[in-house]
Amino acid sequence: MEQRKVSDCRKMPSEKNCSVVISGTEAEVMPLVMHHVINDHGHTDTPELREEIKNSLTNE
Ligand SMILES: [Zn+2]
Repeated sequence: MEQRKVSDCRKMPSEKNCSVVISGTEAEVMPLVMHHVINDHGHTDTPELREEIKNSLTNE
């Protein structure tokens, strides 16, 4: 089974006090996190942001 990845907003640089955790396979997590940080954190969708999020994922 594919390794589940965790995206923890508390570990991401953010102005917001966001405590959301999203977990799943990398393919599942990436679009959800991108949607979340763009809509809820006010980030802009860039390849750099995508890369940053990818690098911030940890194994569950
Ligand atoms: Zn968040």
